[in-house]
Amino acid sequence: MVKQHILDLTKIQLINSLKNVIIKEYQIGQILDWIYIKKAYTFEQFSNMHKELRITLDRKFVLRTLKIIKKEKSLIDGTTRYAFQTYDKKRFFAVFLPGKGHNSVCVSSQIGCPISCVFCSSGKTKYYRNLSKGEIVEQVLQIENDTNERVSGVLFMGMGEPSLNFDNLTQSLDSFLSKKEFGIGKRHVTVSSVGNVPFVKKLADKKYNSRLALSLHSVDDKQRRKLIPNNFGFDIKDILKAGNYYLKKTNSRLTVEYVLIKDMNDSSACAHKLARLMRQNHLVTPQTQVNLIPFNPINKSDFQPTSFENIEKFKIILKFNAITATIRKPKGIDIGAACGQLGY
Ligand code: SF4
Repeated sequence: MVKQHILDLTKIQLINSLKNVIIKEYQIGQILDWIYIKKAYTFEQFSNMHKELRITLDRKFVLRTLKIIKKEKSLIDGTTRYAFQTYDKKRFFAVFLPGKGHNSVCVSSQIGCPISCVFCSSGKTKYYRNLSKGEIVEQVLQIENDTNERVSGVLFMGMGEPSLNFDNLTQSLDSFLSKKEFGIGKRHVTVSSVGNVPFVKKLADKKYNSRLALSLHSVDDKQRRKLIPNNFGFDIKDILKAGNYYLKKTNSRLTVEYVLIKDMNDSSACAHKLARLMRQNHLVTPQTQVNLIPFNPINKSDFQPTSFENIEKFKIILKFNAITATIRKPKGIDIGAACGQLGY
């Protein structure tokens, strides 16, 4: 019998899959407690449960399917890049971002990324498949086990476009936000998209109310198609409109992500145009901010990072237009864990 990944199951599915076993409601609670609160990694550790039940669980399920095959820690800021191997021998990455009293994990939602952004290492990596819900949440559990730290923030900004893996994304959001499972606050969960408009609306209507990050990276549709080849075909104004819908529906926060590439999208004219587009789409609000991301060098790319002065200038123009803008300090740049660097 092929064992099932227990982390793939919702609580209801877990109850159903154990319906032939005599199990009481409180024991389901105990199982969830061992998995998500106590972070057990073998069924043997479920010490307050009957041995027979532990054996049954072990016969039916696996608790861990991912193997950490490489771990690199930044000497600059302690950011750690994990390379995981799946049951079918595929590799992908997650990044642990330590902070004072608040640790986050940047999780992957797919193995490789079919969007193929030309400035991103994941986009240059062969795309294999979606990660299952279990494989998504297991990244956080494995990192918590390995670091012995609690994770209180999750960013869907690793490998992959989360909107292409909708069911597993939403089931993992259920798990991350559930008080009985990870118990992470909705303001500490960010879902990113390159601008899949129907997805943004669907996610807004689902009312998870997590943060949303829209990867814009250009103010010109033609240029944007070159930077993000498989970008779902929506115009910038439609993407920003969807962002506005998200804000109205969720009362959450929105970030517009903008990678600055030298002589490409970093001019003062681009900054003014971005401000104008945001104003026209009612996104000059206290809930919206622009993240300016210095381009991080990757293999097989001729792009150059913008100078620090240019980034500052870009930010000042946005500020002058009442837009909150933050320059994202690259984390883990010395180990290839910064934005856009998660590839082989
Ligand atoms: S930036 Fe995001 S969407 Fe684009 S290729 Fe990289 S992982 Fe995929």
